[in-house]
Amino acid sequence: MTVSDEKLQEAIHTLKDSGVRITPQRHAVLEFLLNSMTHPTADEIYKALENKFPNMSVATVYNNLRVFKEIGLVRELTYGDSSSRFDCNTTDHYHVICESCGKIVDFHYPSLNEVESLAEKVTEFDVSHHRMEIYGTCSHCQASMAH
Ligand SMILES: [Zn+2]
Ligand SMILES: [Zn+2]
Repeated sequence: MTVSDEKLQEAIHTLKDSGVRITPQRHAVLEFLLNSMTHPTADEIYKALENKFPNMSVATVYNNLRVFKEIGLVRELTYGDSSSRFDCNTTDHYHVICESCGKIVDFHYPSLNEVESLAEKVTEFDVSHHRMEIYGTCSHCQASMAH
């Protein structure tokens, strides 16, 4: 079994434990997310699967993503007015985003918990989480710009 197969089995197990029915579409959306390293939008998932499931709508994809999100299998990343992206890597990590093609890549760095506690102390907020993003140009875009 590959790593993503193992992850898929694990995710299906989590769904079953939460009493969620595994439909073929739900299975396909989950599988696509786990194999995709690009943090796709619901629309991208829909387009990737529409040949396989001609009766599936974007709304179905959204509903499935909402279910996964409620169970904690995926994270939703919202970016202002553009559509949400979905991340099935729920371990702590940060994102670097390509300003040219919009690709989001994971990278690991120890969580900046000190910043959270400092923010809490200074502002007396009850801090729930933080988000940090690094912006730049991905290697693919750098290469195509050089031409
Ligand atoms: Zn790029
Ligand atoms: Zn991510």
